[in-house]
Amino acid sequence: MSTALKDSYNRPIRDLRVSLTDRCNFRCFYCLPHGEPPIAPKEQMLSYEEIEYVCDIFVSLGIEKIRLTGGEPMMRRDIETIIDKLALLKPQGLQDLALTTNGYFLPDRAQGLKDAGLDRITISVDSLKPETFKQMTGVDVLDRVLAGIAAAKKAGLEPIKINAVIVRGHNEDEVADFAAFAREHDVKMRFIEFMPLDSGHDWSRTDVVSGREIRERINERFELTPIDVARGSETSSRYRFTDGAPGEIGIIAPVTEAFCGACSRIRLTADGQIRTCLFSTVEHSLRDVVRLGGSRAEIIDFIRGVVLKKEPRHYINEPQFVAPSRSMSFIGG
Ligand code: SAM
Ligand code: SF4
Repeated sequence: MSTALKDSYNRPIRDLRVSLTDRCNFRCFYCLPHGEPPIAPKEQMLSYEEIEYVCDIFVSLGIEKIRLTGGEPMMRRDIETIIDKLALLKPQGLQDLALTTNGYFLPDRAQGLKDAGLDRITISVDSLKPETFKQMTGVDVLDRVLAGIAAAKKAGLEPIKINAVIVRGHNEDEVADFAAFAREHDVKMRFIEFMPLDSGHDWSRTDVVSGREIRERINERFELTPIDVARGSETSSRYRFTDGAPGEIGIIAPVTEAFCGACSRIRLTADGQIRTCLFSTVEHSLRDVVRLGGSRAEIIDFIRGVVLKKEPRHYINEPQFVAPSRSMSFIGG
């Protein structure tokens, strides 16, 4: 294996998030409130062969985790093929192949994902109340998503993580209910602070429910004990239930408790651009290097050079902060 990727702050880069598509069948108000902007032509998107090729290179450079995301990655019809191909990278060092999805397609397709070689799944559920779910996601499909969680469980895509973005005035009253859900269904809840990555640019600091408040809301109903592991590059602070109940709580607080110092991630957009931070304002076209016939050695040099440009941290809390022009659905959350 070539020497592992490191950025200029000596952070090892081990996690790659690959966005498979910019398209989405949901309209979450904190992500894509006005629907998809004009989608780039299909020929600008990486094909599954290109994804397989560049992921092979990334794994040879020490990437251990690949998470497929989007947009809604399951809108891509060849997702099972992509998983099947990426699973072949496991003997070369890929340790974890995961997927983040809104869960809509899981009732029929969870088993197929498992059979193709997917290890784990994260499903986004912002409310356990049908009305609020519809209001936050733009679609009235809570039951179907819950059926998707059951299907993922049945297929053995465990441990299942559930992502909920907590936004003031929408779902902060459900935080403890989500904790109860984690206990009942033995899943790992991940509460995420609302970040300025919505395509409508309506984010406001007053909408952010802090990690601290989330912890306090859970502790009012269920006592939590921190999971005593070195956090490493984990983005969440993790807790178990003190009474020994199943399930786990994780709080991802990039706005109020930034964890950039330990970041080990880079991202590849569906149209083949490398982003070194969620909040990057520049992108680097890996697609061009590949399509213009770059050799494997040239592609490796390009990736190493891009990684050296990884930002030290985000600037959300600073006056000069500029929200990236692309929303989370384009960056690959
Ligand atoms: N469509 C899939 C889904 O919703 O799970 C995968 C892509 S989505 C962009 C990945 C994650 O980003 C989801 O859990 C979503 O809730 C989260 N997300 C999107 N916009 C966000 C924002 N403005 N702040 C915090 N999290 C956000
Ligand atoms: Fe679609 Fe996921 Fe964004 Fe919701 S969060 S609009 S499901 S990409």
